[in-house]
Amino acid sequence: MSAVRVRFAPSPTGELHIGGAHTALFNWLFARSHSGAFILRLEDTDKARSQQSYVSGILDSLRWLGIDWDEGPDKEGPFGPYYQSERLPVYQKYIQQLLDNGHAYYCFCSEEDLSREKETALKEKKDYHYSGRCKKLKPDEVDALLSQGLQPTVRIKIPSSGITIVNDLIRGSISFENRLLDDFIIVKADGWPTYNLAVVIDDYTMHISHVIRAEEHLSNTPKQLLLYQALGFEAPQFAHVSMILAPDRKKLSKRHGATPIKELREQGYLPEALIGYLAQLGSSGNDEILLTREQMINGFSLDNISRSPAMYDIDKLTWLNSHLMSQLSNERIMTEMAAHPQVSAWVKQSGNVYWEKVVGLIKSRAKTLLDLLSLADYFYDDCFDYEEKGIEKHFKAPDTAQILNELLLMVKTSDSFSAEILEANLRALAESQGRKAAQLIHPARLALTGKTATPGLFEIMELLGQERCNLRLERAIHFVNKLKI
Ligand code: GLU
Repeated sequence: MSAVRVRFAPSPTGELHIGGAHTALFNWLFARSHSGAFILRLEDTDKARSQQSYVSGILDSLRWLGIDWDEGPDKEGPFGPYYQSERLPVYQKYIQQLLDNGHAYYCFCSEEDLSREKETALKEKKDYHYSGRCKKLKPDEVDALLSQGLQPTVRIKIPSSGITIVNDLIRGSISFENRLLDDFIIVKADGWPTYNLAVVIDDYTMHISHVIRAEEHLSNTPKQLLLYQALGFEAPQFAHVSMILAPDRKKLSKRHGATPIKELREQGYLPEALIGYLAQLGSSGNDEILLTREQMINGFSLDNISRSPAMYDIDKLTWLNSHLMSQLSNERIMTEMAAHPQVSAWVKQSGNVYWEKVVGLIKSRAKTLLDLLSLADYFYDDCFDYEEKGIEKHFKAPDTAQILNELLLMVKTSDSFSAEILEANLRALAESQGRKAAQLIHPARLALTGKTATPGLFEIMELLGQERCNLRLERAIHFVNKLKI
């Protein structure tokens, strides 16, 4: 068995978000950099909130990110099942052990009993702690209550003094006072373990060596350590990764840009960009370049993880994504976009070879895959609108119609339609008229694309071909003439 075994343990009560993906990635990088195993466990005991669609969503997002698991759903291993909802018999064995050896006890207090205790504490301005009433029940009293059919919870006995120390691989040694922890509930009245107990039993029985998770779980760790002790289990090592906050230092929410991975995917972000961005988030290193998976794995160390919160910055992610877009092969982009209905329609209209050329021309201008759609539009649609600011700047000059007519003549009489020849012809035309080439290029661009900023004009002309350039110039001349009326 691998010495290093880590796990990602999401609860399927929502989609995979940036925070979860970050935790999953750090675990995965740790496993891969130690030739260890990465285990995926679904913590789905909250039956009311867990949903199968979220399970599929989480698995899909992880797969898309390239975070593969060695054991988990669809990949049975020796320590399954990997859904908590299927592990009740495992839990029951250890719950019985805790009750038998006196580390835990049944609690018959009703919700009302506990609310009353809380109210009293509130009135007396004291912090609430469970009174420990049921801890004092004698075995025959417990039996009598059980035989009445009451469904108790189970509480763990926490020492009323002393401290529990968490030796965290990122945050160092942190002490927690036991008296503040209370005899917390470890089994609910329906017989299912609560989060802290389930996680301890699972991490132990799945031979997890390192628990790497978000800082928000740090306060659970002393409770879990006490459970490890009560069960006689050796505890794993812990590493609590800083939270990811929004730039305004608040909890991440929709307001700060899409955070479900699924949505980022739908918006046209690439998995390599997201993984590269997440790997830098909260860890020291050069954040201007995207590393390959290999480089990320080789360079990963818990020592480089920051103790302060990391800030999620969608603009940074977008910048990395656009940088990556310009470097991707046309084939890869075509594969990514193949299923999009607009792309299928375009390919049907003008073929794959044409689409590939379009992609080659526009990819370096696209921030996301979805941007390609608006950038490619005029390569397919002849009836585009002209940009307002372009009309003002390039179509309203008194000699525009004349310039466009000369360009039309140039296009009509051009015997070759390659970008180089077109460029040479246009420059010669400009020179013969004593104009700067830009005076022709700007109105031509607007006439042929409707836009003021595009990839190289001559490459666009070559791709559009003589006939479409003719038509578009004629259409623009008509438009400009109407402006004058
Ligand atoms: N199911 C917990 C969560 O989604 C996992 C906590 C842990 O890693 O221990 O936050």
